[in-house]
Amino acid sequence: MKITDIKAFPISFKVPQGSGVRLGIGLAVKRDAVLIKVTTDEGIIGWGEAHHGRCPGAIAKLIDTTFKELLLGMDALNTVSVWEKIYKMQLSSHGMGYASTMALSGIDIALWDIKGKFFNTPIYRLLGGGKNKIKAYAGGIALGWQDPISLGEEALSHVSKGYKAVKLRVGDKIKNDMDRVTQVRKVLHDDVEILVDANTNYTIKDAQMAIPFYEDQQITWLEEPFPAMEFNNYRTAKTFGNLSLAAGENHFTRFEFSRLVEDNVINYAQPDVSKAGGITEVIRIANLMSGWNVSINPHTSLTGINMAASIHILASVDNAGFFEGDVTAFNPFRDDMDQVPFKLYKDGTVIPSDLPGVGISINEKFLDKYPLIDGPCYI
Ligand SMILES: [Mg+2]
Repeated sequence: MKITDIKAFPISFKVPQGSGVRLGIGLAVKRDAVLIKVTTDEGIIGWGEAHHGRCPGAIAKLIDTTFKELLLGMDALNTVSVWEKIYKMQLSSHGMGYASTMALSGIDIALWDIKGKFFNTPIYRLLGGGKNKIKAYAGGIALGWQDPISLGEEALSHVSKGYKAVKLRVGDKIKNDMDRVTQVRKVLHDDVEILVDANTNYTIKDAQMAIPFYEDQQITWLEEPFPAMEFNNYRTAKTFGNLSLAAGENHFTRFEFSRLVEDNVINYAQPDVSKAGGITEVIRIANLMSGWNVSINPHTSLTGINMAASIHILASVDNAGFFEGDVTAFNPFRDDMDQVPFKLYKDGTVIPSDLPGVGISINEKFLDKYPLIDGPCYI
């Protein structure tokens, strides 16, 4: 079965006025994604999601031109060879070239969608997984920098839906972070886990002040205190206490995850299937992490495709951690596609879809309603 066409759909929506969440990377005003449609000579079509990488138009152009030309005619079921071709022709001589790795991630997901449809089975079955229950936390663009009382109320509202863990956005002034965490810890039962995410906004000094406090508050993990490339800061921060660190949503491919584990700085790995290299590569990363007793907790991107693909992976590895349940207030790319990407059970878990492939079908008329909007996503 040969690849006969590849087409990218960069899509966007504005965050409704007054409902934007503020976090360590700014105030959310717009959301972007790049969906990818791969067509085969047997008429089977697959869909994937590439993370936008703050350059959705560039990623879409790269897919529609260079990637398409490189991959046309290749065996659609041979995901390892497609990965190798892009690695050789795009990544190997130019570093990880993040836009290329994101584009490859989306194409790889689309090819796994095709594989599932070809064998008429869900991806988790092809990966050797089962209908395993995966614990979820309330994440996405939510629980942001806000008044501690309203933050506590929002956390309780997610817990009332079944979540047994919530992720708060920190990375503000340390005093504000502490006030918010203290309030949420106060209103939640002790058995609800609290995770915190600084979105790369801490200095070493901030981390030095915050880490003993988070340890005292029994925080499960501190996520991305620093930018992904500041490896030395992660090593230094590990000496500030016993708090677990999490990172990976801005690390790409097994090669960068190798550095993370060899530095021994994280306890929770967070590859994003739409960024780190697709399903093929996140399975490799999960296996690498398994050898170091580090769990996989995929970062969730924007659309139902990424969410459903992440659950297939979590249901298929021996070191599954949390699924990041997107509790963003307004996300039509989660809610208004043909299938709901995940359902939260009362015990705070999710299970993979039993539909063939990823389990999310895409209506191109739906995509027409969300043309690419230029400009930053966070201000
Ligand atoms: Mg994060």
